[in-house]
Amino acid sequence: MSVLIDLSSDTQTRPTPGMRRAMAEAVVGDEQKGEDPTTNQLQDTVAQLTGKEHALFLPSGAMCNQIAFRLWGRPGQTILLHETAHPIQYEAGGAAALSGLQLTPLPGARGKFSAEDLARHLTRTSRHNPKSACVSVEQTTNRGGGAIWTLGEIDAVADVAAANNLPLHMDGARLMNAVVETGISAAHFAARFDSVWVDLTKGLGCPIGAVLAASAEAIEEAFHYKHQFGGAMRQSGIIAAAGLYALDHHVTRLADDHAHARRLGAALQTMPGVKVETDPIETNIVFFSVAGTGLTAPAFCDRLLAESNVRLGPVDDTLVRAVTHLDVTDQDILTAIDALHTFLTQTKNGTAP
Ligand SMILES: *Cc1c(COP(=O)(O)O)cnc(C)c1O
Repeated sequence: MSVLIDLSSDTQTRPTPGMRRAMAEAVVGDEQKGEDPTTNQLQDTVAQLTGKEHALFLPSGAMCNQIAFRLWGRPGQTILLHETAHPIQYEAGGAAALSGLQLTPLPGARGKFSAEDLARHLTRTSRHNPKSACVSVEQTTNRGGGAIWTLGEIDAVADVAAANNLPLHMDGARLMNAVVETGISAAHFAARFDSVWVDLTKGLGCPIGAVLAASAEAIEEAFHYKHQFGGAMRQSGIIAAAGLYALDHHVTRLADDHAHARRLGAALQTMPGVKVETDPIETNIVFFSVAGTGLTAPAFCDRLLAESNVRLGPVDDTLVRAVTHLDVTDQDILTAIDALHTFLTQTKNGTAP
């Protein structure tokens, strides 16, 4: 059978030969003592990239969010963020379990909330209401289909947060996708934020790791929580080297992923039974509904995988997600489009074989 084309997530990349070489050759030491030169170099690089004083290498993006929330919140307080945000949907209730924090979901199209909606929630300040701890923004939005927060949208939300003395946190899992798509630097995007992190394991193609950046004081405290959460490592230069390699070699090529997503989306628009929900396609994520095929999203994805070795991700009963990344070539996108076309022509109107 043909090779698997995995569009289920941009976490499905494998380290490239060049990245593996960089990892094998990494100079290492004890990270917990601040003596791993490669980890230190990655932290310095990300601090500079995001325009912050210091940065901290962590095992995962989820830990970046959880440590930032612990930094900014006290038990019983609430974090304000979009209702589809990763910490609400996919972090196993971490904010409640680890830090005693609750999460206030804000509405809005494409994973973004408005300054007005944020302000409306912050006006509730009687003794009955939870105190707000921080405001969190996802760049780009995952469940919002890779949408980019514009500088104007960020400024409006940042003004409300500042007026209420609230720290502003960026879940920058895909910040570099926004940077490449807009030409706006990571530091410029992050300027109004008190904490920001980038994931190394999404489009950047690393096997492990994410880096949280903030003021020197906040990062010093974050290191304490890194120990507390069990995330402090030893010779982490082996994996930090992958991050440095990715920042050198895998950033500008994210533009290819965006072109691939647009090509896939445009092709899907001409196919029967499906409806593209991500409009416009801004980066590397495309959501589409399969309600018109007579199949549920999980059945659709199972059968497409079985018949043509193209993997997509079911999100709920009718919605499917396709994500482009480093391991998906021009030819893979054409092959996936062909496979979808064949499959959809056969399954039109529920007459699936
Ligand atoms: C993947 C992701 C995370 C979590 O990152 P991990 O490195 O998988 O822990 C957090 N936020 C967003 C928006 C993500 O897409």
